Amino acid sequence: MKYILALDQGTTSSRAILFDRSGQPLSIAQKEFRQYYPQPGWVEHDAAEIWQTQLETARAVLEKQGISAAEVAAIGITNQRETAVLWDKRSGRPVCPAIVWQCRRTAPYCDSLKEQGLENMFREKTGLPIDAYFSATKIRWVLQNVPEAAKLAESGNLLFGTVDTWLIWNLTGGQVHATDYSNASRTMLFNIHTLEWDAEVLELLGIPESILPEVRPSSGLFGHSLPALFGAAIPIAGAAGDQQAALFGQACFSPGAAKNTYGTGCFLLMNTGGEPVSSQNGLITTIAWGLDGRVTYALEGSVFVAGAAIQWLRDGLGLISSAAETEGLCRSVADNCGVYLVPAFVGLGAPYWDPYARGVLTGLTRGANRAHIVRAAVESMAYQTCDVLRAMEQDAGIPLAELRADGGAAANAFLLQFQADITGVPVLRPSTLETTALGAAYLAGLAVGYWSDFAEIRRNWQVAEAFSPAISKEEAAGLEAGWRHAVRQAQMRD
Ligand code: ADP
Repeated sequence: MKYILALDQGTTSSRAILFDRSGQPLSIAQKEFRQYYPQPGWVEHDAAEIWQTQLETARAVLEKQGISAAEVAAIGITNQRETAVLWDKRSGRPVCPAIVWQCRRTAPYCDSLKEQGLENMFREKTGLPIDAYFSATKIRWVLQNVPEAAKLAESGNLLFGTVDTWLIWNLTGGQVHATDYSNASRTMLFNIHTLEWDAEVLELLGIPESILPEVRPSSGLFGHSLPALFGAAIPIAGAAGDQQAALFGQACFSPGAAKNTYGTGCFLLMNTGGEPVSSQNGLITTIAWGLDGRVTYALEGSVFVAGAAIQWLRDGLGLISSAAETEGLCRSVADNCGVYLVPAFVGLGAPYWDPYARGVLTGLTRGANRAHIVRAAVESMAYQTCDVLRAMEQDAGIPLAELRADGGAAANAFLLQFQADITGVPVLRPSTLETTALGAAYLAGLAVGYWSDFAEIRRNWQVAEAFSPAISKEEAAGLEAGWRHAVRQAQMRD
């Protein structure tokens, strides 16, 4: 067996990637699918199109590499998290469009749950704040608003799944209805301590347990793909939500190990080991993965506007014509000239949690030019990341030893150097930036013995570039003080 096939089902596209034993991606196929915005704040996908595009990319990648299904040791799945799919068990037909994680349609209901004082209960049981992102209130919405769904639920013919579950169900021809611990922990229905669907939460939301998938280890045999799909049956042996998969793909196996994905926003996860850590700083407690009979937990925080600030420089201000230009511009000036950008375009997340904060560009003098403004935008990604990391260190009580970076903006070496400078820890960029798909491949490959153990994966994980802190603690503290001052200005209201 030469390969592992990773299915990376994202929010805007489905991708399939073939990996070899060294963890190198050999071949990639990708297909975008449609986004539906039926009302302001609503986001939907066609679940059938998700399955179709995923199947097509899987077939395409095998064809491109010229290999047969018999040469694939296992399939690993990683997916957009929280998105809710509900379908008829008998026909496999979705009862309505998939409600995407971004969809805000259940925000008013979430507000009413908060008004009932239920926030602590949800946080304690599920590790999550009450929010429309998570699957729970989306499922309730379907049961209450799609008559067919309620009828099917009553007759025991309705199934719910996050996208991993939907793919596994289709791959196995409807034989397996299962999810993994990491995806279950994003539903706001799963008790992360008892590792069971929480009866009290289900009752409160009016969701029957019969529609929920069986929760299984992230690394283990889920079932086999129908032989007709790829020409031979392939074991489906791994599944994890995209951010957790990236943490695994970055080989962050020990408590305190952390990764940051620098994309449109940033997603930070820190492995906290075998015990869930509850956050005092508004971070999310989540399951990283279940493996070898144990569950590993993580703290998660996100930055709403990261690479999006670079897009704003390009599309909103016209200061640059491509994101790649920013690195040279940052290096063209000796320092920030006192300029800070706080891109609080949609408020501020952890650790500030201020939905009313708004963006500010501050510290301008006559000496400030275009490059300083661009540099302030790039630096804002690092400052915001640093804020979340400090919160994680405090919550977990574990000092960060290093930060592993991936995502599109991790291409910017100036950014990663500045991140190391300001955070005071080394920032490492691995040779493979496809960490999400790689994590799914590793989970599947471990289950079927394609990789033997963590040690082998650790050896596969190679640093392409390491950025070590290169400024003094005093200088870093001075810069951070300037950032805090700017954040206060972003939070000012009259
Ligand atoms: P996503 O998966 O969230 O769509 P990606 O991981 O593809 O995002 O990263 C794209 C984001 O990174 C964009 O917002 C873009 O502005 C930013 N970006 C890409 N290249 C660079 C760069 N060299 N420097 C700074 N930002 C960059």
